[in-house]
Amino acid sequence: MGQTRDLGRRIELHSMDPHCHDISLGLYRQIHDGRSGYLVHSYSAAEAAEGRLSAIRDGLAAHAGLVPMEGQPGLLEFPCGEDHEKALRRTFLEVCKRADEEIDGPLPLIRHDKKAECELTVNSEGNGQYRITAPESAEKGPRRVRAVARGFVKLCEMEIDESDESVVKFSCHVDHDSLMGSLFFRAQNVRSAMQEDELSAGRGVLAAPGSQDDS
Ligand SMILES: [Zn+2]
Repeated sequence: MGQTRDLGRRIELHSMDPHCHDISLGLYRQIHDGRSGYLVHSYSAAEAAEGRLSAIRDGLAAHAGLVPMEGQPGLLEFPCGEDHEKALRRTFLEVCKRADEEIDGPLPLIRHDKKAECELTVNSEGNGQYRITAPESAEKGPRRVRAVARGFVKLCEMEIDESDESVVKFSCHVDHDSLMGSLFFRAQNVRSAMQEDELSAGRGVLAAPGSQDDS
């Protein structure tokens, strides 16, 4: 079981993967030189597990904007070196929901919003700051823009601009366009995301096979 310790701390678990023989996939965090490195791992011996793992790993890299960690084969990190753990855990679960062929690249920063009856856009203003906008003609636009901004604050642990509630920023001051795209639809419906969180918290206490000693 020496290998278990080397994986790092498990921060999320996707169990009973319907897209791959009900295997369990874990997301692990390791710290190297003060930077957070992430590993997608499965204890499954199923032959298909390796292919599924690499699809999830590549998908997570694309959807969260992770890059290979230098000197640490197999580990991924955010370019800023921060953990952004909450946003990453959610992105991991979103990627795991998809079959391999449904895992695409990053999602667009413009989306239709049913409640606002218009398109909403996440605009990068640089240095990790984003402004949510709606067309001026959309009556319910301003309200929804503020709601989505608050959604991002919750989902991505961002800060809201006190003078403009449509502006949110990452405390690392680094852009994370992929994360913003991946969690945009979640920010539009943060209540259902929070409900899923509760389920996930319940799942988190169930250890993956063979991983009982990670804490
Ligand atoms: Zn960052």
